[in-house]
Amino acid sequence: MTTQLVHTREELRDARAALPGRVAVVMTMGALHPGHAQLIAQARQEADSVVVTIFLNPLQFAAGEDLSRYPRTLNADLEICREQGVDLVFAPTPDVMYPDGEPGIRVSAGTLGSVLEGALRPGHFDGVLTVVAKLFHLVRPDLAYFGQKDAQQLLLIRRMATDLDFPIEVIAVPTVREADDLAMSSRNVYLTLTDREAALSLSQALRAGEAQAVRGPAAIRRAARDVLVREPLAQVDYLVLVDPVRLEEVPEWYHGTAILAVAAKVGTTRLIDNLPITVGPTAPA
Ligand code: AMP
Repeated sequence: MTTQLVHTREELRDARAALPGRVAVVMTMGALHPGHAQLIAQARQEADSVVVTIFLNPLQFAAGEDLSRYPRTLNADLEICREQGVDLVFAPTPDVMYPDGEPGIRVSAGTLGSVLEGALRPGHFDGVLTVVAKLFHLVRPDLAYFGQKDAQQLLLIRRMATDLDFPIEVIAVPTVREADDLAMSSRNVYLTLTDREAALSLSQALRAGEAQAVRGPAAIRRAARDVLVREPLAQVDYLVLVDPVRLEEVPEWYHGTAILAVAAKVGTTRLIDNLPITVGPTAPA
């Protein structure tokens, strides 16, 4: 089986038309790592045909963010796609995606897009949803796989698919981690050795919070915060325990699934991580 690489809309249209059965898409910005490979592997198991998109979307980067230094590794990415049995890779340039320049019409992420990551990166999720909507139209998948690692993005894409009637099933894939529990990310290559050590405080904070799950939100938040304050190299943007639908801080009486999410800058690298946690006393067995 061969992996076909296409760059233009015309090539994509023809190659897509030839794909049999249920088609899955995995959207990426390239610099593929085992987290992406896991999304592809799950798609490969559940669909007949798998399309991977590789597009570093300028619309979702603000001035001063890391667009210019973001790792570009197309040949290695293609190798991973071949290993994973991907049928089709669509790797457009910005002028293929945005032939008239920056689009005047964009998808608005609404209020859910202006909290947490959206509060720190204004316009980010409008840029994400706009490119995801365009890629949905161009690829016409039946299934779309996204990582829990980007929990807010996943939630917004689900909402967009529902609210704007995309006939696409959005499937969440759990976060893939390094052996020492650091969440895999294309941005981890920016970390120096010292940063890499400090970056462990994010997953350690989440695990410390998780260990307090039965004791409720205050105990979870306190345990997580206590880990982060001991790491001076991590400049925390937020640490929150939010409900998975509205992304609002959960009250002390809350029971059920919540997301413990953290964002911090370590050295020059901004990292995010989260864990879904079942909050409150567990039912007796
Ligand atoms: P990106 O290339 O960073 O835009 O990510 C492309 C897709 O891979 C998104 O759906 C991410 O949520 C997902 N992803 C990134 N890192 C991981 C990871 N460590 N585990 C699982 N999925 C991931």
